[in-house]
Amino acid sequence: MNTLPKALSFKMPAEATPLGYRARPAKVLLEVSGLRKQFAHGDTPAVERVGFSLGEGEMLALLGPSGCGKTTTLRMIGGFEVPDAGTITLRGRDITRLPPEARGIGFVFQDYALFPHLNVLENVRFGLRKMPRAKAEARAREMLALVGLSGLEARKPHALSGGQQQRVALARTLAVAPPLVLMDEPFSNLDAAMRVETRQEVRKLLKATGSAGVLVTHDQEEALAIADRIAVMEAGRVIQIGTPDEIYLNPASEFVASFLGRSNILRGNANGMRVDTSFGTLPLSRAANGAVNLAVRPEQIMLEPDPAGPASVVGREFRGHDQLYWVQEGERCMLVISGPGASIGVGEKVRLRICDCVVPLT
Ligand code: ADP
Ligand code: MG
Repeated sequence: MNTLPKALSFKMPAEATPLGYRARPAKVLLEVSGLRKQFAHGDTPAVERVGFSLGEGEMLALLGPSGCGKTTTLRMIGGFEVPDAGTITLRGRDITRLPPEARGIGFVFQDYALFPHLNVLENVRFGLRKMPRAKAEARAREMLALVGLSGLEARKPHALSGGQQQRVALARTLAVAPPLVLMDEPFSNLDAAMRVETRQEVRKLLKATGSAGVLVTHDQEEALAIADRIAVMEAGRVIQIGTPDEIYLNPASEFVASFLGRSNILRGNANGMRVDTSFGTLPLSRAANGAVNLAVRPEQIMLEPDPAGPASVVGREFRGHDQLYWVQEGERCMLVISGPGASIGVGEKVRLRICDCVVPLT
């Protein structure tokens, strides 16, 4: 069993986390290859050719829109769904056809699945039934301290907030120190502020216990905030996998560029590392040739007030830390993000300038 640090602070903001992104761990924990699942009445497979590997202690987010096959993929890893094809290995052992309880994988469900008639301590102790009672009790208390719930041992789940229930569920799952924890939209029942706080706690807890995690989410911000790597899914397939910054800065397709953050799509004519566009010749993030679509992030565009400018502001949203502008230039409407300082009113004439390299899309 892994040793646990004595306590973790749960108030640390995301920006200050000491457990930042790190190099990929060398040791592979989970290997998923060629997974396929077609349901009886589906005309296309729910999951097809899904493959990825996960290192020990690594956190992977499966990110994609509703219906793209995230839950089905997770359920196959957990053993709740039998794949039509493909293999799943955990620490080198083929677990593809093992029942869930024989896999040694932990789960955190969306509704927490706590036992309502058991108190907090009994819920956490539940997974430790095979341990001697005194040892199980000590371990359960240690886990509750780790998730910041010491003192609430005797409470029943209904007397806890959603965030607290989520932590009990997590303490129960992590008490047995599983090498891998599967989580399907675990924060969706929490309000927005709790979600932001809880997801950092979950990340820290998994890092503290050394467990790897696969998190299913349709929320790109959540994936960016919590994951070491993100696998973006579309229509049953993983279409790009990489660190949050790799995927944000170098999206492979128009779908990824628009699903992770927002992107303006431009046409251009590429020649190696440069591309000709209606905004002039721009540097490319990777080489391309011929006619290409380009992704330009709203924060890569500069907005200059210019009474003789070719474009005009048609919408503006002040968001405090920055502001969004919708700018019409001919047929095209561009989304621009700029700092909170300057303010340009709707109807004013402007000039747009792209001040960064742009991404060629496949
Ligand atoms: P996600 O979690 O990304 O929203 P799912 O994995 O739940 O997606 O679903 C992928 C596709 O498979 C969807 O089209 C869904 O309707 C279908 N599907 C999921 N579970 C079943 C099932 N038990 N029977 C039939 N179709 C299913
Ligand atoms: Mg789902």
